[in-house]
Amino acid sequence: MNPSPSDLRERVRAFVRDELFPLEPAFLNAPLSEVGPRLDALRARVREMGLSTPSLPRAWGGLGLSLTEFASMSEELGRSPLGHYVFNCAAPDIGNMELLLHHGSQAQQARWLRPLVDGRIRSCFGMTEPEHAGSNPVMLSTTAVRDGDDYVINGHKWFASSAEGAALCVVMAVTDPGAAPHARASQIIVPTDAPGYRLVRNIPVMGHVGEQYFSHGELRFDNCRVPVGNRIGAEGAGFALAQERLGPGRIHHTMRWIGMAERAFDLMCERAARREIKPGQPLATRQAVQFMVADSRAEIHAARLMVLDAAAKIDREGPKAARHEISMIKFFVANVLQRVVDRAIQVHGGLGVTDDTVLSFFYRAERAARIYDGPDEVHRGVLARQALRPYGVEVEL
Ligand SMILES: Cc1cc2nc3c(=O)[nH]c(=O)nc-3n(C[C@H](O)[C@H](O)[C@H](O)COP(=O)(O)OP(=O)(O)OC[C@H]3O[C@@H](n4cnc5c(N)ncnc54)[C@H](O)[C@@H]3O)c2cc1C
Repeated sequence: MNPSPSDLRERVRAFVRDELFPLEPAFLNAPLSEVGPRLDALRARVREMGLSTPSLPRAWGGLGLSLTEFASMSEELGRSPLGHYVFNCAAPDIGNMELLLHHGSQAQQARWLRPLVDGRIRSCFGMTEPEHAGSNPVMLSTTAVRDGDDYVINGHKWFASSAEGAALCVVMAVTDPGAAPHARASQIIVPTDAPGYRLVRNIPVMGHVGEQYFSHGELRFDNCRVPVGNRIGAEGAGFALAQERLGPGRIHHTMRWIGMAERAFDLMCERAARREIKPGQPLATRQAVQFMVADSRAEIHAARLMVLDAAAKIDREGPKAARHEISMIKFFVANVLQRVVDRAIQVHGGLGVTDDTVLSFFYRAERAARIYDGPDEVHRGVLARQALRPYGVEVEL
């Protein structure tokens, strides 16, 4: 039987606090190889506890949580940069697992989904191309051309998160250039040992090149040949599948961000309460600091309610019906996160920009929150279009 949602939340919170927070100093300041074996051991322990891949059905070894239930767990995991990884529910693996669960063939599930769920392999997702604006994803140059029972893939991708060490890449490639824009592409599984697949480099982000799961890869496909049976779903269904993935995916991201914001908030309050600017007068006695605390509390509260509302609507009516709520939370919560982390850094002074706390990791790793999965401007445009249509204005995105 599943634990009750509040028991589950308490267990996860305690695990993150007791097992993951202590690993963060090594994670932030040493090569991943130092902390990697300890992370692997914790991943195995979480699996033994029955808490791994919580959003997957019980038949696959998950907890079968609804999106709303998983959202609350995701918040707890998001308090540490290691949470989702250790519970085997981090992007892009979680998106690829859900894709294979709902649309993979039996053979694909046996070969790829099973070991992903068991935590024996990792995966990445290759859609964005350096030569085209990722904000308009129908503009793709990567092609997959049929040759007998194979596809031959040629193209260039970047920002494939976690590509280093991944066993497979789900690649978005044009299979029918003559079709309507949203029916041109398909999603195809490319094993990373397939000839013609190449990880060119890990892209340095804000001064950090990253490693393994915590990296973003640039990829080349040069006459890379894979069986037609590696296509997920129907030919031309690539964008429809991507849309389906992004709805729940944005709930996962935004609740993870709320977890980060809560952690930053805790750190800010602790520091404000302890750090004395005059004997007996901690920072928290100053109104400028109190306002930062109050604004952060209110913004996190609003963000959480908005995300839970969107998650409940997806659970009830599906991602399409909730598309405006999804756009709303994507840009709103990303900006709340950045404001709260920025304030927490400010209250920490010089310490805030060091790697002695987790704040600087949140700051540099999640500046991209306002860019990936659709930049702020695109989501604002979606919302403005809906708001202005009744007034006779047609907003172009
Ligand atoms: C950390 C990180 C991880 C990522 N992980 C992955 C991954 O795993 N797999 C993958 O395929 N991709 C990934 N991406 C790529 C990401 O999806 C793209 O960066 C995103 O879609 C934006 O595309 P772009 O970078 O080409 O920016 P562009 O499309 O060139 O846009 C640049 C800027 O223009 C503005 N803009 C865009 N559209 C509009 C508009 N309609 N109106 C007004 N202004 C606009 C925005 O300010 C935007 O930031 C990742 C990116 C980052 C930064």
